[in-house]
Amino acid sequence: MFRQAAFFSLADSRPGNPADEFASKVSWSARWNVNLSNGRLQELERIASRIRRQFKVYLEPKVDILRVVELKFSTFYPDFRFVVIDDDDQVFAKNILAFTQFDPLQIGVREAIYRLAANDDPRARFVLAHEFGHLILHDLDLGAKLFAGARSDFEALEIRFELEANIFAAAFLIPAWKTNCMSAEQISASFGVTRALAEWRLKQVGALRAKGPAMRGGCSSQ
Ligand SMILES: [Zn+2]
Repeated sequence: MFRQAAFFSLADSRPGNPADEFASKVSWSARWNVNLSNGRLQELERIASRIRRQFKVYLEPKVDILRVVELKFSTFYPDFRFVVIDDDDQVFAKNILAFTQFDPLQIGVREAIYRLAANDDPRARFVLAHEFGHLILHDLDLGAKLFAGARSDFEALEIRFELEANIFAAAFLIPAWKTNCMSAEQISASFGVTRALAEWRLKQVGALRAKGPAMRGGCSSQ
């Protein structure tokens, strides 16, 4: 069966809370027992840092993710299109909030998510950063592999890609080196992310620092 090489972000079941896919996806991948190696986790940190530099938002605490995806990305990749899907659009299933596609290269978001992101809504910002992660990390070849493989391969790869896009999004929105001495509350306020994501990221940065020289830092060393 032909499946289009695209990643979709779906609304969860809670009305008014459309984009809190982070927590559900993390628990989902934990259930499937998909873990990324320490090497891959460190690599995702480096990629997120590099992309921040490339897009000249390295020092911004609350990175303007909408501007990066809507305006800046196409200056590097002229073929890229950012599309806003009408909330009443029938072509896409109602619960699709956003998607990333590789041929043609585009990110699409629901009008509601676009408006929320423009108003700094932390969950909408995360949805955009997650799709941006797919764009940066998962190209057409990987997409084709994902969608052409057997059902069991598809599931394992899909979970892995979703997890990677989430981890990239967290690293891109909350650079590890900027979190020194900050509480989850402060991170949530300064970086424009949910409290849940801030808490998760603090734990993750602690674990990465314990394992790798690439992540030196921490409050006591300041
Ligand atoms: Zn995704």
